[in-house]
Amino acid sequence: MSALSTNATRGDHRVVVIGGGFGGLRAVRHLRDAPVSVTLIDRRNFHLFQPLSYQVATGALSPSDVAYPLRALFAGSDNVRVLLADASGFDLDAREVRLAPAGDESIPDAVPYDTLIVAAGSSYSYFGHEEWREHAAEVKSMESAIVVCSEILAAFERAELATDPGARAAELTFVVVGGGPTGVEMAGQIGELARHTLRHDFRSIDPTTARVLLIETTDRLLGSFPASLSEKARRGLERIGVTPMLDTTVVDIDEKSVVLEDGQGARETVPTRTVVWAAGVQASSLATTLGELAGGEIDRSGRLTVESDLSLAGHPEVLVLGDMVRVRDADGQVQTLPGVAPVAIQQGVYAGRLIVDRLHGAATAPFHYHDKGNVATIGRGRAVVDLGWLRLSGLPAWVAWLVIHIWYLIGFRNRLFVALQWFFSFVSHGRSSRLIVEPDDIDVHEVPTSD
Ligand SMILES: Cc1cc2nc3c(=O)[nH]c(=O)nc-3n(C[C@H](O)[C@H](O)[C@H](O)COP(=O)(O)OP(=O)(O)OC[C@H]3O[C@@H](n4cnc5c(N)ncnc54)[C@H](O)[C@@H]3O)c2cc1C
Repeated sequence: MSALSTNATRGDHRVVVIGGGFGGLRAVRHLRDAPVSVTLIDRRNFHLFQPLSYQVATGALSPSDVAYPLRALFAGSDNVRVLLADASGFDLDAREVRLAPAGDESIPDAVPYDTLIVAAGSSYSYFGHEEWREHAAEVKSMESAIVVCSEILAAFERAELATDPGARAAELTFVVVGGGPTGVEMAGQIGELARHTLRHDFRSIDPTTARVLLIETTDRLLGSFPASLSEKARRGLERIGVTPMLDTTVVDIDEKSVVLEDGQGARETVPTRTVVWAAGVQASSLATTLGELAGGEIDRSGRLTVESDLSLAGHPEVLVLGDMVRVRDADGQVQTLPGVAPVAIQQGVYAGRLIVDRLHGAATAPFHYHDKGNVATIGRGRAVVDLGWLRLSGLPAWVAWLVIHIWYLIGFRNRLFVALQWFFSFVSHGRSSRLIVEPDDIDVHEVPTSD
């Protein structure tokens, strides 16, 4: 086993950060002027702005609009080194991060640290049905969002080729699973695509007849919003051709259909070849790895409980944050914070500040989350915003949603391009990124039959 030597250019204290997402990125940004040497490890070479990945999945934005190269972000920060690698484990006694084997013995497989920040995020869970993953892609990763975009567009293409009415109807049925913000936004975008963007593009089919079903197990959409905004979201979706199916659970998914069960236990098989998964989140497996090594508490979603300063119990030098954790507050109560970007951002800033404070021998108050509210878009010109003291819906909410997302996007170019693209699609209903780019996996020529 060989460990990477650090190339500290400023300070001997070595901080290793796993994950260049919302939390990790903020921590590194806070440390770039500090007297420490930072190593940022990510398995991707870019930061992904996940709240807009569903727009890549529906052709509204290009992949490069919502991602930014990590190396470019820290090119001007001498004390920050970026490594493209997969963290696979830890040696807490030796204070080393283990890297997944690169298949080349000359590449070190461990990175030493004095302080470690783990911010590896989460992935979608399929509630114990991993076999569904093959037929129901999610939009959390860039790779998957690109596949979903191709699948949706390929379904319209196959419908245009199909002569059998049943097969054509199946191709024009889209099922989105999960009525949280991602599911609502995704369903709304497919509705807009079918009713507006593609309206005049086909000759054999009428894209506006496409069915978009949004499946939610509970009795309302957007469960984290006030009931009045959930109701507005439901009505807004119906206006753009989406059918929200509440009190409904997915019980099976295969290549050609989805089986649904309503609150009374009645089952219905819906023929479809396009299912998008937006339900159930599972923390990165690194949370469980750390929990097992340090005897930490892990909940059903795989989140590790950390102390009120985000440290791993018994290991003040290991800070864990973002989607991976629940936090013990100053009174010892375990808080489950929402799995949203502001939580990860605030925790990333906190971790950076804590490290600087410790170097200066200063105390840091326990982490406290400032909830600034919730936003979700429903479609072109429609959104819901809940700031606690102010609730908005319709166009004002959509403008607020737009400003917030552009503000938090990384990189001036991305902000400018996204703003311009949204402006053009608002006035023209256009979508610039309608490309089918997975021809090997997605067979547009496989004209289906109804059986
Ligand atoms: C489709 C979608 C829409 C969303 N919409 C919203 C929204 O509108 N508003 C909102 O506030 N939140 C939204 N969220 C949630 C938000 O994106 C997350 O809460 C946030 O990204 C969590 O930040 P994080 O730093 O914990 O993890 P992430 O941002 O997920 O970052 C984790 C990073 O770790 C890297 N990584 C993972 N494992 C390893 C490993 N083993 N080795 C090396 N690197 C690794 C990943 O490549 C990634 O870069 C959305 C999420 C999704 C999926």
